[in-house]
Amino acid sequence: MNAERPEVAAAALPNEAADAPQITTVVIIGAGQAGGWAAQTLRREGFTGRLVLVGDEPHPPHERPPLSKAVLSGSAGPETTLLMKPEAFDALAVEWRPGIQVRRMDRAAKQLLLSDGAVLPYDKVILCTGGQARRLVAPGSDQVPLYTLRTLEDAQALAPEFRPGRRVVVVGGGWIGLEVAATARQQGADVVVVEAQARLCERTVPPEISDYLLALHRSHGTQVLLGLGVEGLARAADGRSQVKLTDGSVLAADTIVLGIGLVPNDALARESGLACEGGVLVDAQCRTSDPDILAAGDVAVTPNPWAGRRLRLESWQNAQEQGIAAARSALGLAVDYQPLPWFWSDQYDMNLQIYGVPTPEHRVVRRGDQDSGSFMLFYLAGDVIQAAIGPNAARDLRFARRLIEQRKPVDTERLADPGVPMSKL
Ligand code: ADP
Repeated sequence: MNAERPEVAAAALPNEAADAPQITTVVIIGAGQAGGWAAQTLRREGFTGRLVLVGDEPHPPHERPPLSKAVLSGSAGPETTLLMKPEAFDALAVEWRPGIQVRRMDRAAKQLLLSDGAVLPYDKVILCTGGQARRLVAPGSDQVPLYTLRTLEDAQALAPEFRPGRRVVVVGGGWIGLEVAATARQQGADVVVVEAQARLCERTVPPEISDYLLALHRSHGTQVLLGLGVEGLARAADGRSQVKLTDGSVLAADTIVLGIGLVPNDALARESGLACEGGVLVDAQCRTSDPDILAAGDVAVTPNPWAGRRLRLESWQNAQEQGIAAARSALGLAVDYQPLPWFWSDQYDMNLQIYGVPTPEHRVVRRGDQDSGSFMLFYLAGDVIQAAIGPNAARDLRFARRLIEQRKPVDTERLADPGVPMSKL
């Protein structure tokens, strides 16, 4: 998979002006989902020059959604998460540098310094460096084992911890926390979720959905504590861990998992003088403040017309689509990356999907009955749907997506009536 391709000559790029500088070397930094899609796209779009993929993870690009579910429960092996079959990856003729970090970007000389001492010249760089699990800053955090879930190795280390008779404390009631809590519970562990905010997934969903998620997890026997932070950690005399909460109570734990958010890996960009604000700022062509350096995926902060502001999207959709967009943009092809945000989460046998970005200013229209296990909430400005969310409603939500993208006013009475098929709206 490490194949070099000395025989291929650098090619002029499709659709490029004759006087545009030739691109002979593209370096992708970060071999996750966005990086993998960028590599595939460069080749698909006809780039035959030198393509280098530098990634600090030891494996070829893979997808992360199964890590908190199938891989964590042991029902799927790590190989099932690979983005490409090994033959397909080989066929890309990528110079793959696993386990290597880019230490410095010398933008003036247009070269990169790698952790193994190599110096790599580039014409274009695509930053797909993603993020890392946020660490807990609390007294005693060095006294007890703390697990996080971001990488394949994280999932493999955590999986054996989940079994009957074990008490798992999950700190953070966001997406990672709740997916991990569901998997731990399904493996028979006792689970407590500790969330600092007054409701679950406060950052990303409206209160109605937080309430739904709370009921879901409680119905499976998980204890969910809201509005409580971690004051400190300690190791008890019996070797178990102790989680001291802000109300003075103490939870005993066999395993502590942190799901307290993602920190974007933008240090390399910042140290190179690229504009960053909670991630690397890019435009709709995925260009950073240096037009020869593009960024995509979890690390990129992109103007989003659906939200009316810049967003850093931590989603499978964004990793793929922005990886593709950045590769095309690097080749000088037309790109206008303004996706309607789409996100999903699987917890137990529930699949929750979100299109768009709901805000408190939106008017809420409900369709369907919460007790039925499948319902949708629409978020409107006037009579135009801006966002839609629902558990177990994937098919109807695809129609909702179309309505959002068409920006057409809807009859809200019909929208609220489950007797009117979504396709008729
Ligand atoms: P992810 O998608 O990585 O799970 P989210 O932002 O969706 O990230 O969720 C992280 C959750 O962790 C948020 O709900 C946040 O309020 C919560 N959180 C952050 N710090 C703490 C803490 N010290 N104790 C408990 N909860 C925390």
